[in-house]
Amino acid sequence: MTDLPERLPRGLQYELNQDNDGLAEPQFSFDTLAVRAGHTPTHEAEHSEPIFLTSSFVYGSAAEAAQVFGGEKTGNIYSRFTNPTVRIFEQRLAALEGGERCVATASGMAAILSVAMAYLAAGDHVVCSRAVFGTTTALFDKYMRKFGVSTTFVDLTDLAQWKDAIKDGKTKLFFCETPSNPLSQVADLKALATLAHEHDILLAVDNCFCTPALQQPLKFGADLIIHSATKYLDGQGRALGGAVVGSAKLLEEVFLVTRTLGPSMSPFNAWVFLKGLETLRLRMEAHSASALKLALWLEAHPAVKQVYYSGLPSHAGHELAKNQQRAFGGIVSFEVKGDTPEQSRAAAWQVIDSTKMLSITGNLGDTKTTITHPATTTHGRLSAEAKQLAGVTEGLIRIAVGLEDIEDIQQDLARGLNALVG
Ligand SMILES: *Cc1c(COP(=O)(O)O)cnc(C)c1O
Repeated sequence: MTDLPERLPRGLQYELNQDNDGLAEPQFSFDTLAVRAGHTPTHEAEHSEPIFLTSSFVYGSAAEAAQVFGGEKTGNIYSRFTNPTVRIFEQRLAALEGGERCVATASGMAAILSVAMAYLAAGDHVVCSRAVFGTTTALFDKYMRKFGVSTTFVDLTDLAQWKDAIKDGKTKLFFCETPSNPLSQVADLKALATLAHEHDILLAVDNCFCTPALQQPLKFGADLIIHSATKYLDGQGRALGGAVVGSAKLLEEVFLVTRTLGPSMSPFNAWVFLKGLETLRLRMEAHSASALKLALWLEAHPAVKQVYYSGLPSHAGHELAKNQQRAFGGIVSFEVKGDTPEQSRAAAWQVIDSTKMLSITGNLGDTKTTITHPATTTHGRLSAEAKQLAGVTEGLIRIAVGLEDIEDIQQDLARGLNALVG
């Protein structure tokens, strides 16, 4: 072992404040926590966070192993349970969301599944907003149903529908995503949390689109935060991961699920996401600034029928978004003009196919701008009726604005749009 330097560079240990109803009040600001929370250098005095690629951990004696396995002494056992690199990511994300604890998972879907396994049992009922990630719909509607859990899907912004859907004593979970994909609808989180808590229901919010850099749903009363780390937390399209954040008490149940059922995060991926968190706020502000410019430009283009972006004063959720979010995020959707669904699809595909730089892909949250036709890709498996309810028309195009120069992004889109108006 090397001799230790006299003054080890110190990491910020994330202080829990357990008496504040699941909310934690870190003593440092967001930007400081994003860079330093969770990491205390090991005996090697490393500056950057280490990657512990190990599946198990060793003990000094049989007695010590017995103590750790028996829970009398804290220590790592196996990376399905805990891993030092994953723990740094968990502590840092918990700090950024203002939650007491985080459990990292193998993907965003694994995070949602872990919450369902932790809190739902046969006979229970879920109310979920209709405008959620398509696979989330399948998780509740197809797979949880197999285990006797039913789900009612409601309009994200219509509180009366949430209220009417509650089955007293049976409804255990409200689940929503805000802003929604692809229309950027905004939920009133305070109102949803109040309604949920009046009926002993947990409110889970998928915070994928805003990330804690723009929105901290726990502060509005949400109980559980879901993340697909695959998107903006990584921010560079490299790795799959997810997380759940909330109070220490609620998260203990989620932890027991991941350590037993196994949808745990890989240490290597945790390290990728950790480095992503360090630049998260800077990236989210840059994505948001470019998205707003693009939305304003699209709104003025004669080939565009409507733009969906909560940063636009014309958007129904604009005021609410201003109160809940620090900025409006990087996802802009718009509809091109067309007299029939067939013409609208042809026009949308023409705009997509006329781009030379934008990436035609369903993913989002990358430095590279992506362009998608939701009706035939991300939302392609929805029934015609479900598409209509979700506002996914044939003329709709979704852009996840990246970090390229905004003028270049506009020029790439202008080629197809200008051709539509001759
Ligand atoms: C991608 C996504 C998910 C699922 O995450 P994976 O990491 O792909 O499993 C969940 N919610 C939202 C809003 C997403 O965009």
